[in-house]
Amino acid sequence: MSSSPFDTVDCVVIGAGVVGLAVARALALAGREVIVVEAADGIGTETSSRNSEVIHAGIYYRKGSLMAETCVAGRRLLYAYCAEHGVPHRNCGKLIVATNDAESDMLTDIKGRAEANGVEGMRLLGATEAMMMEPNLHCTAALLSPSTGIIDSHSYMLALRGDAESHGAMVAFHSPVLQGRAVKGGVELEVGGKEPMNLNCRLVVNSAGLHAPALAKKIAGMPSNQVPSAYYAKGNYFTLAGISPFSRLIYPVPVPGGLGVHITVDLGGQAKFGPDVEWIDKIDYEVDPHRADKFYAAVRRYWPDLKDGALHPGYAGIRPKIVPPGASAQDFQIQGPADHGVPGLINLFGIESPGLTASLALAELVRDIASA
Ligand SMILES: Cc1cc2nc3c(=O)[nH]c(=O)nc-3n(C[C@H](O)[C@H](O)[C@H](O)COP(=O)(O)OP(=O)(O)OC[C@H]3O[C@@H](n4cnc5c(N)ncnc54)[C@H](O)[C@@H]3O)c2cc1C
Repeated sequence: MSSSPFDTVDCVVIGAGVVGLAVARALALAGREVIVVEAADGIGTETSSRNSEVIHAGIYYRKGSLMAETCVAGRRLLYAYCAEHGVPHRNCGKLIVATNDAESDMLTDIKGRAEANGVEGMRLLGATEAMMMEPNLHCTAALLSPSTGIIDSHSYMLALRGDAESHGAMVAFHSPVLQGRAVKGGVELEVGGKEPMNLNCRLVVNSAGLHAPALAKKIAGMPSNQVPSAYYAKGNYFTLAGISPFSRLIYPVPVPGGLGVHITVDLGGQAKFGPDVEWIDKIDYEVDPHRADKFYAAVRRYWPDLKDGALHPGYAGIRPKIVPPGASAQDFQIQGPADHGVPGLINLFGIESPGLTASLALAELVRDIASA
């Protein structure tokens, strides 16, 4: 640590992605003094602006997992928050579509899992009913999820930031946390960037997304054997020229590592396909146009009319995995002092999808751990 003097603060949230901002808001609303330190020059420049912008219902996750619980709770909180704060969103619904008998059988299991998680209104549809709802669709059966929706995630993050700031929080950009150490009464942080500072914090929330495990390892006193390894599963998107052929979101049955190449529509009416799953070693957001070949094949299973040349490379996001390829599904990991033994430190690891949907519920959990 550098020898500059330390400023004392109550809470520091590292990372101004959607989860860090939601946590900052929850802590500020609880009356805590909060500074968000963000390495980049704005909010949500990493995973939070590189996702599908879907409000997930909570269908696929293992019953009792943090993902299942925070997705369902977070989704309810998120719809209410959007309505209250004028955040653009639409509860458009989604169809999970089967294209053969084996997949049709899987829909019943998916419905059971969703209901066990508390997801409302799931309904199995025959091919005719599904194709009447979505005339461009080809399927053998479908599962309707009426509570799925879409959101303008940037407007949502702006609302969270505004809410946090109006309750006294501050956001410092160009402020990368370089390292830290556990001390009596909290955690010291060394922050670099344009205006370097040393902070003595009663509470540090490590919400650094893809970088959270590496950052946790730089906090002296944090047991390194409790820090999960980081793996990156890139998801590439391709956009569709012209108007969307579907009014709902259309998903195939899930594939290992992701939800399958699905079609989503943003609030501007732009349809996009993806994300696929590409395991990578270092952060790289380039979309390889050749990956479109696999998209055509995957999408034509449920939309045979997709024309050659209709897909254009869009953007990519990277899932912050904490389990390697081939491992069973991961769960969110929120580690507080009771888990790792470092007073005043909360780590958020593996906050992949449905982290956007779950953000308000995750924030409540962090706030409660912080006040325990
Ligand atoms: C392909 C893809 C599709 C997805 N689709 C959906 C979806 O449709 N619906 C849904 O609910 N979820 C979805 N998700 C998940 C969702 O996007 C994430 O869970 C969420 O954005 C994570 O937010 P975050 O704040 O944890 O991380 P991030 O948005 O990555 O924010 C972390 C922040 O920390 C900052 N930072 C990092 N290191 C430091 C440091 N040392 N010092 C200071 N700042 C630092 C970064 O600059 C960044 O701004 C998707 C994810 C992916 C990858």
